Amino acid sequence: MKRPIKICKNPDCQDEILEYKSSKREYCSDSCRNQHGHKRRTEENADTIAYSKGQKVNYKLIKFYKDCNILIEELSKFEKMGFNTKYLPPPKFYLKGTKNIQYYQIKDIQFGLNPQNTNQIIIYK
Ligand SMILES: [Zn+2]
Repeated sequence: MKRPIKICKNPDCQDEILEYKSSKREYCSDSCRNQHGHKRRTEENADTIAYSKGQKVNYKLIKFYKDCNILIEELSKFEKMGFNTKYLPPPKFYLKGTKNIQYYQIKDIQFGLNPQNTNQIIIYK
């Protein structure tokens, strides 16, 4: 029986794996396996760093507004200053009447989109 062609999983290599004993083999060599593993870990790390950086910027902006006692502001204004909705924590909900209102919490500050106007950010006191 002919063996299926296997390609090294290292994206920088992608050579055909000519000899393999186990069908589970994914890389042509140990160095390819190590290289790819290292690259993947670095990328995951970069995602985590970008997320925590982004969240820090978001928090700073929200806190600045709260400290100035400006509790409603256009989302687009926030975004112009570097606010990025990509870096929000998982949403929480509170019940207002019969409606579930979504909000976010970073550290001590709770905020969300204004339920009356979703182009605005509202900061809760
Ligand atoms: Zn390889």
